[in-house]
Amino acid sequence: MHESVLDVIGGTPLIRLGRVGAGLPAPVYLKAEFLNPGMSVKDRAALAMVLAAEKSGGLRPGGTIVESTSGNTGIGLAIVAARRGYQCIAVLPDKTSPDKIAVLRAYGARVVLTPAALPAEHPEHVRNLAQTISMRTPGGWLADQYDNPANPQAHVEATGPEIWEQTQGRVTHFVAGIGTGGTITGTARYLKQASAGSVRVIGADPHSSVYGGGDGSPYAVEAVGHYLHPETARDVWPLSYDEALVDRVERIGDRESITTVHRLAREEGLLVGGSSGTAVAAALRVARDAAPSDLVVVIAPDSGRGYLSRYFNDEWLLAMGFQDGAPDTPVLGDLAAAAGAPLAIALPATAIEALAVVASRGSGLEDGLALVVLNRTGGDETWAVPDVAGVLPLAELRALPDDEPLGPYLRPLPSTAGSGEAIAEADARLDPDQRWIPVLHDGRIAAVVARSDLARSHLAVAAAVPGIEEVR
Ligand code: PMP
Repeated sequence: MHESVLDVIGGTPLIRLGRVGAGLPAPVYLKAEFLNPGMSVKDRAALAMVLAAEKSGGLRPGGTIVESTSGNTGIGLAIVAARRGYQCIAVLPDKTSPDKIAVLRAYGARVVLTPAALPAEHPEHVRNLAQTISMRTPGGWLADQYDNPANPQAHVEATGPEIWEQTQGRVTHFVAGIGTGGTITGTARYLKQASAGSVRVIGADPHSSVYGGGDGSPYAVEAVGHYLHPETARDVWPLSYDEALVDRVERIGDRESITTVHRLAREEGLLVGGSSGTAVAAALRVARDAAPSDLVVVIAPDSGRGYLSRYFNDEWLLAMGFQDGAPDTPVLGDLAAAAGAPLAIALPATAIEALAVVASRGSGLEDGLALVVLNRTGGDETWAVPDVAGVLPLAELRALPDDEPLGPYLRPLPSTAGSGEAIAEADARLDPDQRWIPVLHDGRIAAVVARSDLARSHLAVAAAVPGIEEVR
């Protein structure tokens, strides 16, 4: 019996991955954070940050909790706010999934939406807007999970000791993703200290995230890692993340993360979110190189219930190029392989720079094809087609003055299709007037194929689809 829902935050079980981890030298145990009341690890940080602010006087009775959050922290704060009698305002990127917004509202939180693709310096960037709202709201308090020491401290005080006690000190490797860095930093700090420095700490990072050395371009797995906006002048990492405590970072591609969440659901009966797939994929690599006396613990931050329309939805997987087609059916990936990487340029760019890209490939402006214009923005909850701001018909380039920026001339991205989609089905589905089709493979544009090529679709099944090649 518990006095309130807040008393059942934390204390999550460790569950052995007996099937997915079968045959590996060391056992892998998953810390089931989706069993928290808000279904994520962030309940812990939310409660700890509120309690610390009550103590310091930053948050007063009847006050308003404000935070920029992609979802889980907001849900945790909304729960704590409900039970302890505060208002809660969550500032979210405008493309956050409606389901997450509905959950926040169900707990009584107010949701403020702001455009997703803004550089960190912009006053309406989620974090800046949350700060402004917290200052303008009487009794407002900004939780600030990225820089709030109570976030990692929650894991020093609970997650770390739980793992140490549950494994009776036998844990040798700890694996977690890095978002604010609170989970890995706090847990690592405790485990390193308890084990006199012997526990190895491994970060699990989406392949293009900067924590693991990626280029900062967007990725499909949500709520973990760190991407870069091209106009962000100075990349600042959260204070909640202490890199010095992490021995190494494993970089995991989106496809591997997604395959891993499917295996966890179908082989272990564990329905978890994409970042759990990233973390478990890294943990399996760690266990592969470990000794039989070792014990690997991996954090599963949230439930798969929030992602049923994505990682567990065949239509989404196919449309994003995460699913292969039937072996004997001609698929768009075959045409994409033949077409090769599309002409691409990143914003900001001028007409003359775009023309240089076209010339460097020996293409003609008469090709009738499009130049794909990249905008390296994303949003951990807003991700649709990474990178692509739009297209520009090549013929239009000629009409532009040399120093004219491309931005205002962009056409919206035409409907995309996945590399595993059957050619005939894609042809029937897409608007007949659409002249070119960006083909996605593993969530990224692998090629732009001409519509007319769809008719000539009796190509042999081609080898791997080439990745996009950015010329500039
Ligand atoms: N996975 C999910 C699903 C999350 O919501 C978060 C928090 N943004 C993380 C991983 C990363 O956790 P942390 O912020 O503690 O690094």
